[in-house]
Amino acid sequence: MRIGEILEAKSTRDVVTIRPDAGVRELLALLAEHNIGAVVVTSDGTTLEGIVSERDVVRRLHSDGTVVDNTVAAIMTTAVETCGPDDDLDEVMATMTARRFRHVPVVADGTVAGIVSIGDVVKHKIGQLQFERDQLDSYVHQG
Ligand code: AMP
Repeated sequence: MRIGEILEAKSTRDVVTIRPDAGVRELLALLAEHNIGAVVVTSDGTTLEGIVSERDVVRRLHSDGTVVDNTVAAIMTTAVETCGPDDDLDEVMATMTARRFRHVPVVADGTVAGIVSIGDVVKHKIGQLQFERDQLDSYVHQG
């Protein structure tokens, strides 16, 4: 299955973004409002500059209680692993597992075209496995 098919199946293809100079309090408000775990960081709304997830806040909170007074730029990850709409789901899933992150932005023609989360991946993988199981079941019980 291709990443583009996953994007098409999502209820919204809008990617929630935040500017690097926004505050961490603003980030927390966005995460809560949209019920999501990570936000793409971009100054112009389309060019990817980083990704920031709830984990970036939580990990720093342990050693620095003032993290909420920082900017997003201070805590975001700038070396972002991305994928394209034609990439294979299994390969993206393997990267998420190996690198231990739950979000991969989809970039097409140099701009952010969507985001795939581990939740999207698991949902499609289960659908695929159920389909295969039903096919095998009807094959075994035919006639
Ligand atoms: P997550 O599991 O997605 O909440 O993120 C865990 C950590 O990996 C955080 O430090 C994120 O900033 C970082 N991260 C999340 N997604 C990516 C990605 N696609 N590429 C690089 N780092 C990421």
